[in-house]
Amino acid sequence: MVLVGKYRIDSVIGQGGFGKVYLGYDLDMGRYVAIKELLRDAHISPDEWQRYQERFRRETRTVGQFTHPNVVGAYALETDLDGSLYLVLEYVEGGSLKELLQPGKPLDIERALRIACDICRAVEAIYQQDIVHRDIKPGNILISQDGTAKLTDFGVAQVGHESLQTQYTIPHPGTPAYKSPEQATSTGYLDQRSDLYSLGLVLYEMLTGRPYVRDRQPPRQHNPNVPPALEAVVLKALQQAPDDRYQTAAEMLRDLERVQTESVGGQLRIVLSRLS
Ligand code: ADP
Ligand code: MG
Repeated sequence: MVLVGKYRIDSVIGQGGFGKVYLGYDLDMGRYVAIKELLRDAHISPDEWQRYQERFRRETRTVGQFTHPNVVGAYALETDLDGSLYLVLEYVEGGSLKELLQPGKPLDIERALRIACDICRAVEAIYQQDIVHRDIKPGNILISQDGTAKLTDFGVAQVGHESLQTQYTIPHPGTPAYKSPEQATSTGYLDQRSDLYSLGLVLYEMLTGRPYVRDRQPPRQHNPNVPPALEAVVLKALQQAPDDRYQTAAEMLRDLERVQTESVGGQLRIVLSRLS
């Protein structure tokens, strides 16, 4: 099948909330793309369809602002004859972190660190444009073939202060298991500290192979291989009060990078001691 005369549809690679995500091939550009659809459904009212469409267009405009190595890039928004919408995205071939995370199986520490650093860079970049993602979780983190992590799915992002009027009356969207305390309980403006809390939850899960909410134990309780300095980063990211957490993504990134250098240094020392 060829979509809007331009994209060959090869397979289904994901299930989104409002339609499927396909692997496609852009015939003009000669490259693979991911295509996220918003299917026009006969069962929804015109009003509802209008709302879904607006949300999808907003998502497109939000990702469209970025060309950043740690944010999945957007190429185009297409409409077909029946009015369905298709967001054409950079194809990330490694799939999502959700597929990588097996219950009870922590990721390699170096790998977890690298993913956390990458997503920290993404949070820093989007917050510079006054965007809070609000849905950082394994299913929205894609891993490319070379191991780079990329943030995707800006479907429920908080964009600027534009929507503040409604923001103060309706609860924040997002995924309950990955919401920060303030995202779950308040209706006010969120800042990057909320995304960094969610990233803390993801990091915890990568390091222990289990969700933090299960018993709220420090990571080393479940995985003694986690370096104490890394545990300290996780615990700081997961403080209840935003004022007690990392205040900026740059600050969290600095600590993560420090752990990264130390653990590389630690391994080098082990290798050297074996050689001598
Ligand atoms: P939703 O808004 O419905 O959650 P997502 O944008 O998160 O949709 O996409 C759902 C799933 O589709 C992702 O978890 C991932 O597995 C896959 N996917 C989405 N975008 C891409 C992409 N650009 N490259 C590869 N896989 C993708
Ligand atoms: Mg998603």
